[in-house]
Amino acid sequence: MTMLFGRPAEPERAVVRTDLDETCPACGSTAVQGYPLLEVTGWCLVARCADCLHVLRREASPTPFGFSYVPYSVHLRR
Ligand SMILES: [Zn+2]
Repeated sequence: MTMLFGRPAEPERAVVRTDLDETCPACGSTAVQGYPLLEVTGWCLVARCADCLHVLRREASPTPFGFSYVPYSVHLRR
């Protein structure tokens, strides 16, 4: 049997967060990180403050798995 996704080797999965050289406008912290995020509207890239969770930017992004993912919620908004 062919598996679409194999079993992960790690006991826990985590998104790699990249430190951005920016300052949070809400709290003044420099702990701003960028990472991909799956929301109900699909994949997006966010820049978020790690201290106060303020979202600096959020932009739509293609899925990192190489295919188009259309979330089920899109079909419910008509
Ligand atoms: Zn902040």
